[in-house]
Amino acid sequence: MQRILNYIDGELVEAANGGWLDNVEPATGKVYSRLPDSDETDIEKAVAAAKQAFPGWSGTPAVERARIMDDIADRIEADLESFARAESIDTGKPIGLARKVEIPRAVSNLRFFAGAIQHTASEAHVTDDQALNYTLRRPRGVAGLISPWNLPLYLLTWKVAPAIATGNTAVAKPSELTPMTAHLLAQTCRDAGLPPGVLNIVHGLGARAGAPLTTHPDVPTISFTGGTATGGTIAAATATSFKKLALEMGGKNPTVVFADADMDVAVPTAVQASFSNQGQICLCGSRIFVQRDAYDAFVDRFVSATGDLVQGDPLEETTNQGAVVSKAHFDKVMGYIDLAKEEGGTILAGGSTPSGLPDRCREGFFIEPTVVTGLPHDCRVNREEIFGPVTSIMPFDAEDEVIEWANETDYGLSASVWTQDVSRAHRVAERIASGTVWVNCWLLRDLRVPFGGMKQSGVGREGGDEALRFFTEPKNVCLRLGSS
Ligand code: NAD
Repeated sequence: MQRILNYIDGELVEAANGGWLDNVEPATGKVYSRLPDSDETDIEKAVAAAKQAFPGWSGTPAVERARIMDDIADRIEADLESFARAESIDTGKPIGLARKVEIPRAVSNLRFFAGAIQHTASEAHVTDDQALNYTLRRPRGVAGLISPWNLPLYLLTWKVAPAIATGNTAVAKPSELTPMTAHLLAQTCRDAGLPPGVLNIVHGLGARAGAPLTTHPDVPTISFTGGTATGGTIAAATATSFKKLALEMGGKNPTVVFADADMDVAVPTAVQASFSNQGQICLCGSRIFVQRDAYDAFVDRFVSATGDLVQGDPLEETTNQGAVVSKAHFDKVMGYIDLAKEEGGTILAGGSTPSGLPDRCREGFFIEPTVVTGLPHDCRVNREEIFGPVTSIMPFDAEDEVIEWANETDYGLSASVWTQDVSRAHRVAERIASGTVWVNCWLLRDLRVPFGGMKQSGVGREGGDEALRFFTEPKNVCLRLGSS
C-alpha cells in the first residue's frame, strides 16, 4: 500500500506517533494509500524547521527564490500526467479536468508569483519639502497554510507560491481527504533543491494537525481555505493572539440569466458552472434565476445538456462527471436531494446514483447531476451550501427582485450574470454582494485580480498584489528632508 509522508525540514518522514490514516479512492470506495496521522509534535517540528529556515530564505535574493519556484513549476509540468492521475484517483474528478485545468493552474500559480516578486514596487510619499516616506515590505515569518480537498494542488500552491515568493517560510496542512498531490509536490520541491524548512507539509486531521498549527505562537500568519464553520473555529481560536488571517470559505453562488442573454453560450456555461468537478468548486453556480419569458426554454435546454454529461470512471478520458469526494459527502448531498423533495421541488434530472458504472466503480460515491425546479427562492436548499451536483432553477420577473434573491444567502463568494444589455450588466454586477461577478462568462481567472468573498464567504483577499501584501508587513520609513 502506498504511503504518503510528511515533508519536514527537507525530509520525507512518518508522523512522530507512528499513526496512519486510510486514504480512500472516491471512485471505488476502497482504501488505496495511507497518510500520517500527525499531531502537535509534528507541527512543532515543522514550525521549528520553518523558523530556522526563515533568515536564510528571506535573505535569499528574489531572483533566486523565483528561479527555484520556476524549477518546481517546470518539474510539475514535465510530470503532468502523474500529477493528473494522482489528482483524479485522490479526488474522484475526471482525469481530463485534472490534466487540463487543475494541474496547469497549479503550475501557473508558481510561475505567476515567481514573476510577480521580481516586478513589485514599493510606495514612496513625499510630504512637500519636509519628508520622504517610503514603505518597506518585509516577509512576516512562518505562514500556516490550510487547504481543502476540492482543488487540492491548485489551492495549496495558490497559498504556497505567494508565501515563499515574498520570503516567508511555510507549514502547510492539506486536506486529509486528498493528500496525494501535496506529497508529490513535496518530492518535487526536494528534487528542485528548495532549501530544507522553506516549505513543510504536515498531513493529518484538522483537529489534530490543523488546529495546533493555527494556534502556534511562532506562526503569525494563517491562510485558510475551507468551510465556513471551520473558518469560524480558526477565527475564534486565534482571536486573542492577533494573527493575520485570510479566510476563504463557502459559497452559494447565483447565476442570473436575463431573457436577452445569448442562450447558446449561457446554457452550456451554466451547466458547466453547476456540475464541473461534480459541483464541488466553491465558485459553482448552484442557484439559477432565469427571467420568466425565457424560463421554460432555458430549463428544457439545461436539462437536455445535463443529460449529455458522461458519468463514469474518472480515469476514463470520456468521463466528465466523476465521484464526489467521500462517503460522508455523498450522504450529505443525497440528504439535500431528499430535502429538495420535502421542500416542494421537482427533480427534472438526476436525483439518484447512476446505473451502468464499470465494475471497478460499483462501491464508489457517484451522484447523478441533479436539476431541481419549483423550489421557493428562500428555502434551505437555496440558501445552504450543498457543494455537490445539485442545481435549482427558478423564474424571476424584475431586476430588483432577482438582486434581492441573489443576495438572500449568508454567502457572497461569486455570481454570474447573463445579459446583452451593458448598462444592466454594470448595474447588477455592482449590486450583487459577492467578491467576484462574472458577466457572460464563468470561472475566467486573471491571477492579478483580488480574489475572495463577502459576508460568510471570506475575510481578506488572495491573488496578485493582495497576496503579496497579505504575506508581508508594511513598514513606513519617514526621512526628514532639509539640512537641520
Ligand atoms: P473543511 O473546512 O472541512 O477543511 C478545510 C481544511 O481545514 C482541511 O485541511 C481540514 O483538515 C482543516 N481543518 C479542519 N478543522 C480544522 C481546525 N479546527 N483547525 C485547523 N484546520 C482545520 O473544508 P473542506 O470540506 O475540506 O472544503 C470544502 C469547503 O471549502 C467548502 O465549503 C468550499 O466552499 C470551501 N472552499 C472555498 C474556497 C474559496 O476560495 N472560498 C475554495 C475551495 C473550497
